[in-house]
Amino acid sequence: MIGLPSPLLFVLAFAAGAIFALAALAWFRSSTEARQRQRVDTMLSVARRYTLGDLSRPAPDYGDDDLGSVARGMDQAVQELGRRLDSLARDRARMEAILASMIEGVLVVNEQGRLQLVNDAARRILKLEKDSIDHSYVEAIRHPGIVEHIGRALKGEEPEGLELSVTRDTTRTLVARVAPVVTAGRGAVLVMHDITDLRKADLIRRDFVANVSHELRTPLTAIKGYAEALLDDGDDAEARRRFLEIIHRHATRMERLVKDLLRLARLDAGQEAVELAPCDIDALVRGIVNDFDAVAQEKGQTIGAHIAPEAAMLVTDAAKLHDVVRNLVENAVNYTPEGGAIDVGAAVKAGRFQLTVADTGHGIAPDDLGRVFERFYRVDKSRTRPGGTGLGLSIVKHLVQVLNGEVVVENQPGGGALFTVILPWRS
Ligand code: ADP
Repeated sequence: MIGLPSPLLFVLAFAAGAIFALAALAWFRSSTEARQRQRVDTMLSVARRYTLGDLSRPAPDYGDDDLGSVARGMDQAVQELGRRLDSLARDRARMEAILASMIEGVLVVNEQGRLQLVNDAARRILKLEKDSIDHSYVEAIRHPGIVEHIGRALKGEEPEGLELSVTRDTTRTLVARVAPVVTAGRGAVLVMHDITDLRKADLIRRDFVANVSHELRTPLTAIKGYAEALLDDGDDAEARRRFLEIIHRHATRMERLVKDLLRLARLDAGQEAVELAPCDIDALVRGIVNDFDAVAQEKGQTIGAHIAPEAAMLVTDAAKLHDVVRNLVENAVNYTPEGGAIDVGAAVKAGRFQLTVADTGHGIAPDDLGRVFERFYRVDKSRTRPGGTGLGLSIVKHLVQVLNGEVVVENQPGGGALFTVILPWRS
């Protein structure tokens, strides 16, 4: 074996070492680059997922070097933005739910005159298309008054409220208010209230006042006239007595009217307490029938009662039920011609207590059936009873409502009116 000189051996050993070191370095670099690439790919895939709006999964381990720190920082910023977006979306959903449940119409226009927000009520009131968002308000809204008011608000003015009937529907009255809004840019918000019911209530109130004045003026004029006649010519004892009787009759009528009005006012204000107790229906009905027996006999009428055994006892406010039945029987006697028949019945049907007052009179014209419970409504003024106030059935309706029931009227197939009072059955 030829022995190699030791310096050569050293050089070879050094060269092999260098080659190995270079190979190791190359391997190390290439594997580091691969790892880096893999990390960058992971970051890119996370970024892609975030871009698509999926912020849910926890971020991977980004590593501890500078690249990892930057990725972690970006990730946290994205997560924070996501949380804020979530909260904004929740706020928006809440606002939309509130706007959707509002009966007032709300509409927002931006600086460019485009619709930014329209709630369901506004869409319904103004008959706007479903896709009206981002459309010009001038083209979308067909009401010139509203368009003009929005235009003024966009210029920063505060236009006064506007009363209007919406397109083609003249039965509804609305009040529209437009105000400028200044946030990022200038805009306008329109709010519309439907005041049809308020207007109706106002009309009913005015009619009521006019009716009361009229009903009071008639007896008052008579009283004044006869009192003056008495003052002028009070010597004739016979005439004096007659005049005084007339004055007394009219004063009684006025007293009854005022009493009924006060009762209605008390019922309206919920000031009549309900006192529930077991009530003997049989005794209550028979008592009222007896009270009217003499008047009925005078008119040749028969008046009777049929109380089913299970309806003979009811837990209710006896005084109020008494007033209801008395009123209905009094009407039946009054509006049934001579020789007719009146029948009061009580039974339990479909788990409810039913009290009926039926007569053999002329009944009520179909057009008037729905209106007889209104205040001062009289079907046929010429046939109204002299002492009547036109408030009796209105009081009946209120009393029955206070008792948690309902009262209905219909004409019987054989003629005559049939009033039915339906109450909860508690015995
Ligand atoms: P009134 O004081 O005029 O009787 P109500 O409120 O009791 O007032 O009744 C309202 C109207 O309903 C009456 O004026 C009458 O025209 C009609 N009416 C009530 N009961 C009957 C009935 N049994 N038959 C026919 N018409 C009736």
